[in-house]
Amino acid sequence: MRVQNRSSPAVDPGLLRALADAVDTGRLDPAAARRLIRADAASLPPLLEAASTVREQRSGWTVTYSRKVFLPLTNLCRDQCAYCTFVRRPSDPRAHTMTPDEVLAVAEAGRAAGCKEALFSLGDKPELRYPSYRRWLAERGYARTIEYLHDLCALVLERTGLLPHANPGVMDEEDIALLRPVTASMGLMLESTSERLLERGGAHRGCPDKVPAVRLATIAAAGRLRVPFTTGILIGIGETLDERVDALYAIRDLHDRYGHIQEVIVQNFRRKPDIRMRDWPEPTVLDMLRTIAVARLILGPTTAVQAPPNLMPEAYDAYLLAGLDDWGGVSPVTRDHINPERAWPHLRELKDRTERMGFRLRERLAVYPAYVSRGQDYLDPAIFARVATLVDPGGLVPQEREQW
Ligand code: SF4
Repeated sequence: MRVQNRSSPAVDPGLLRALADAVDTGRLDPAAARRLIRADAASLPPLLEAASTVREQRSGWTVTYSRKVFLPLTNLCRDQCAYCTFVRRPSDPRAHTMTPDEVLAVAEAGRAAGCKEALFSLGDKPELRYPSYRRWLAERGYARTIEYLHDLCALVLERTGLLPHANPGVMDEEDIALLRPVTASMGLMLESTSERLLERGGAHRGCPDKVPAVRLATIAAAGRLRVPFTTGILIGIGETLDERVDALYAIRDLHDRYGHIQEVIVQNFRRKPDIRMRDWPEPTVLDMLRTIAVARLILGPTTAVQAPPNLMPEAYDAYLLAGLDDWGGVSPVTRDHINPERAWPHLRELKDRTERMGFRLRERLAVYPAYVSRGQDYLDPAIFARVATLVDPGGLVPQEREQW
């Protein structure tokens, strides 16, 4: 494919060659990526065009989303990220760990509203920090949160048929093996590969689970166990643009090795009044467009690129110009507990805005079509049996069963 420079003769021909190579080979040269993440008015149009072409190779004009419920199993956590508004200490009256009845009630409401995914999102290993929470678990027969999570995933799957997607933080191979039979997919945001963020004043100061090597080890362990996996980067938390690119290459390297990364999220930091980073500058729409496009070209056509629509409500449809092909989980029932002030768009609005940009919105499951088609190689037999009842031959929810 030839990528044309329609906008300005000032674009470096070497950069245009790198874009054309990325389109042809699914590989973007790292030096070019570092320049393109800073794309100016001249180089932005060819960058967006190349990213859109790779997206088209992957998914044509189809953009997907997952109809889900959000289950914040516990908002206790042993970490203390400077941007987090989800976490609570046990002394806070808003601290809460959901009981099985509460989980089932939400999952059942989701099932009734046509949801297929139960997203379990929770703080990382709070039992290592809080004795009162350790006692809470012990009274119910558990030593670790991951065991409690396992049983609730099994309960939701059995009682409602919703497919669990588990996001419990850093896991080792044993943890992942425990959850695999009761989940359709798992996830852990890499967020960043910058060690600097762990230093004094950094976003990850005081967060043992945010050490990049530890998170990369979790993603690798999921690859060894053949788990369809979601990861991503959180942008605007103090990383440099080069570090942002490094994180995307680290994800691509793991996918090259194991082939299990089904989607990569590009999430933008948002300021909130009650966080340590309340005065931190937020990424702009332009930042998002550059990062999504560079992510698309680094990851190539085998991995979905996703960005949450609710974190840039005024402009999220512009992401479609940059190679995005998935909106992530959107819930008609529960709010975004990680960003509670940011309501998800109504599904009808998401569909309309996607279609106005010339795309078709389709519902997917918590596991992407590429992994559905690989069947029991990537899914436990019981999960695969359930998945098979929910999809069309292309691995998506049949159109006649979609609800808007
Ligand atoms: S690990 Fe997650 S839940 Fe815990 S403080 Fe950080 S962002 Fe919040």
